[in-house]
Amino acid sequence: MRIGFGYDAHKLKAGRQCVLCGVVIPCKFGPDGHSDADVPLHALMDAMLGALALGDIGVLFPVKDEKWRGASSVEMLKDVYALVQGRGYALGNADITIVLEEPYLSPYITQMREKVADALGTDIGRISVKATTEEKMGFTGDGTGISATAAVLLLSYT
Ligand code: MG
Repeated sequence: MRIGFGYDAHKLKAGRQCVLCGVVIPCKFGPDGHSDADVPLHALMDAMLGALALGDIGVLFPVKDEKWRGASSVEMLKDVYALVQGRGYALGNADITIVLEEPYLSPYITQMREKVADALGTDIGRISVKATTEEKMGFTGDGTGISATAAVLLLSYT
């Protein structure tokens, strides 16, 4: 078994599409960034890479590389998971927390879990997505940004 933890944060920008765990959230602002800036998926990818000590997504998908401009993080996640599987590991489970003052994410949680499970070819029961606010404190609280954390357990099948 290998355990991994990932963290990511992005600024929120008016007019940017808000994609979280591959689900488009109706919103007047979204995370700014080079790719689609899907913060929880960036945290999840870093957790997977961290579990196998393979670096981070900045190494795998360099910001300088135009190839990744506007890239879908769901597709990037599939690439990362292929790498994980290539090392002889499969996902045990993942637990993601999204920290955002608004909008209220509760109506989208099941869809997010399905999207991540589909991307990884796994069961929704292995994917947890939670959302919380920081009660108007700090950069998530005042709407400057969004952050996410992810913990994963990888199981060796060799
Ligand atoms: Mg990021």
